[in-house]
Amino acid sequence: MIDPQNVRPEIYQFRLGNFKITNILDGYFHREDMHPFTATNASASEIEAVANKHFLPYPKLEHNFVPTLIETPDALIAFDPGFGKRAPGPTAGFFNQLLKKTGYSPDEVTHVIISHGHPDHIANLTTDGELTFKHAEIIISRAEYEFWSGNSAIPDFRGPTRQMFQEIVVPLAERCRFVEPDAPIVEGLTALNAFGHSAGHMAFHVESEGKELMILSDTIAHYAISLANLEWKFSMDDDPEMAVKTRKRLVDQAASLKAPIIAFHMPFPSVGYIEKTNADFKWVPSSYQMNI
Ligand SMILES: [Zn+2]
Repeated sequence: MIDPQNVRPEIYQFRLGNFKITNILDGYFHREDMHPFTATNASASEIEAVANKHFLPYPKLEHNFVPTLIETPDALIAFDPGFGKRAPGPTAGFFNQLLKKTGYSPDEVTHVIISHGHPDHIANLTTDGELTFKHAEIIISRAEYEFWSGNSAIPDFRGPTRQMFQEIVVPLAERCRFVEPDAPIVEGLTALNAFGHSAGHMAFHVESEGKELMILSDTIAHYAISLANLEWKFSMDDDPEMAVKTRKRLVDQAASLKAPIIAFHMPFPSVGYIEKTNADFKWVPSSYQMNI
């Protein structure tokens, strides 16, 4: 569907306690700039060396967009539901049709959680001026909403992001629940402070019947580069210094938890573990453990 030349996995589902988790490949971009895209304060040769170690090409990379759905006994929650019709290219914007292929209707979604206000995370809140998820409450951190809806200083390249946020999210303020970090969102789901990638960026802790999972959103941007050196700054981080501090805290927490991790830009199906090694951290993709 995403690339007519290649069939590839685009929906992945597993159970966590009595929750059903579905990851959907909204799409991907192929880029030619692993350096400096993934790390602005590393040298090109350092990045190339990490790529080589992981058997990855350089400087090409694939940047995935992976929204998550969680079905609980009384809610259907969509996290950052992709680009929708505003996809800037033909290889992204497939969330809505894959949602239907999964067996859900957009009208069944009870909550849409926006981890932060960047375009790949908010663009599908509306379709042709109408709500994409008609009955859903929209959840976003108060800090994030205030940042993009107000007049705070923004990085130069974020002008279009503010414009999109004001066009899409601000008119929906009445439907929004503004939350603080550590707030329970629904039973079993808690927001975590992940400020730095954007002013009010959130990660999430999920727990059902004693089984845990973390959704790191954009705390890590590339599964190999971002974890190879936690001091490396991702070019899309709005506050790179704060993002480094947050990344260290949450990556360490994720490694200690030894529970499955999801993050929006990990390679599909975007489920894995973070292993602490002597010098750094490593993304270990999940295998069949999610199925049994
Ligand atoms: Zn993103």
